[in-house]
Amino acid sequence: MSFNKLGLSSALLKSIQAKGYSEPSEIQQEAIPEILKGNDILAGAQTGTGKTAAFALPILHRLQNAESKRRRVRVLVLVPTRELASQVGESFRDYGSNLRFRVSVLYGGVSINTQIDKIRKGVDIVVATPGRLLDHLNQKTLNLSELETFVLDEADRMLDMGFIRDIKRILKYLPDEKQNLLFSATFPNEIKTLADSLLNAPKRIQVRSSNSTAEKVVQVVYPVDKARKRELLAHCIREEGWFQVLVFSRTKHGANKLAQQLSKEGIDADAFHGNKSQAQRTRALKDFKDSKTQVLVATDIAARGIDINLLPQVVNFDLPYVPEDYIHRIGRTARAGQEGKAISLVSADEHKLLFDIEKLLNSPIPRKTIEGFEPTQNLSTEAPKSRGSRRRKPSNRSKGPERSRSSRGRSSFNKKRNKRSPSKSKRRP
Ligand code: AMP
Repeated sequence: MSFNKLGLSSALLKSIQAKGYSEPSEIQQEAIPEILKGNDILAGAQTGTGKTAAFALPILHRLQNAESKRRRVRVLVLVPTRELASQVGESFRDYGSNLRFRVSVLYGGVSINTQIDKIRKGVDIVVATPGRLLDHLNQKTLNLSELETFVLDEADRMLDMGFIRDIKRILKYLPDEKQNLLFSATFPNEIKTLADSLLNAPKRIQVRSSNSTAEKVVQVVYPVDKARKRELLAHCIREEGWFQVLVFSRTKHGANKLAQQLSKEGIDADAFHGNKSQAQRTRALKDFKDSKTQVLVATDIAARGIDINLLPQVVNFDLPYVPEDYIHRIGRTARAGQEGKAISLVSADEHKLLFDIEKLLNSPIPRKTIEGFEPTQNLSTEAPKSRGSRRRKPSNRSKGPERSRSSRGRSSFNKKRNKRSPSKSKRRP
């Protein structure tokens, strides 16, 4: 199928061509015609499927078709993380490069005054994370009463990160009459309830299950002793000529340490996690995307939403405690139909974590022992003896994993967090 058949304006088709997209992805084929018709959408699609263009293109088309003389916020896209906000904002600017709409990206960790100045000059499209958006709404520096389209992107991630109350507060500032588009990889009950209250006779679209990203990624486990993981990583980077590699570490401390050690060995590496300032995160990501940094060592929570074109490989330096995070990690590569490789350096003590991941994938991951790094303790292929619940975050917070909230520990996290004022609390994804 070609983009020409979807009914998009010639200005948008020109931008699509400039981006080099030859044909619409599955979610784009399904969602674009429905959004163009003005329908509400309930879409099951995860990041990497081309979902941003699936809503940005028809939204821009509709804005263009009903040009307004007076600039006002006509579109709001709510996303869970700052990185995703930047990327979605960038996509709107790219796809709308032949149009005259102004996009504003609002997230915390940076000056609110600069954002206020920009809003005052007039914006058409706002892409925001919930906390900062609420700050603007509470301070009345942003008016959403004339909104035409509302997009809730990665709704399940919002829930995981404890944003559900903020979303409900934000909804009170929006007009009843508007087009609503909800995107989520999964549909837990709270999202279903939210969808029921928000959406008006939505068209339901489902493109692939949340596990299918894994199918496009070539996955392999390198069994290795824990103490030799760093050495093996440096060896692979050099011997296999990895020029751009995203490495996942379970903890912020571990990410810093690994980046420092690799740098000492002459490999350009940087760390990326929630303890870094927004400016540091933006710079680290930019340097990595521009190939100035060869290795980016990231924690799970910070890496959410990272979209790097043609990222060839992802390395799991430690396996995540939550098996779903493995799928999310490896989904950073092999995006939009590209090929990608995910290598996991696994020591014998991670046997149970590996077992849980393979159970979720419903298939074993091939093992490859690297010459010179043969483990002294073999990685068992047997099911672990006690099949209890997944591991939980250790109580030592400074050294504990910077884990996503997609685990079973989520409810207690939310309970704790909700005791504080939601708009004031710090969320550092
Ligand atoms: P998303 O799922 O929106 O995060 O998009 C993932 C990646 O796919 C981004 O790098 C997009 O630029 C890219 N992309 C989106 N649509 C297409 C398409 N039709 N063909 C090729 N790449 C695409």
